[in-house]
Amino acid sequence: MPESEFLGGCLCGTVRYRIVGEPRRFYHCHCRRCRKATGTGHATNVFLQPARLEWLSGEASVRAYKVPEAARFTNTFCSECGGRLPRQNGDAVGVPAGSLDTEPSLAPQARIWVGSGTRWSCHGDALPVFEEQMIQAT
Ligand SMILES: [Zn+2]
Ligand SMILES: [Zn+2]
Repeated sequence: MPESEFLGGCLCGTVRYRIVGEPRRFYHCHCRRCRKATGTGHATNVFLQPARLEWLSGEASVRAYKVPEAARFTNTFCSECGGRLPRQNGDAVGVPAGSLDTEPSLAPQARIWVGSGTRWSCHGDALPVFEEQMIQAT
């Protein structure tokens, strides 16, 4: 997947961002943390690497909450509206797909952590399902 540009922002529009990077993974994650962070049955995230995240506006309103016992799980959001936002992690960027205004160039690849998901969360498609993390073929 070639490097491309992605634009997005939060619910209230205070925070706007631009990401330039290579989209590599696109998952629906049904884990408990994603459910709590989004208030929905699963989070839908795109991971780009290498990638660079740039705040176009509202950087002062960007907040991050790291789950204390988690190795990496951090919920990044707008302090005005609570809309979830991307996060730079080394040379990678994780993006809550719903915050994007640019249509991602790849489609969702899998449902992960379904083993800790709920019965009511949507499963009605042909994507491969993983009880926990996706086992990478490469
Ligand atoms: Zn906002
Ligand atoms: Zn998750």
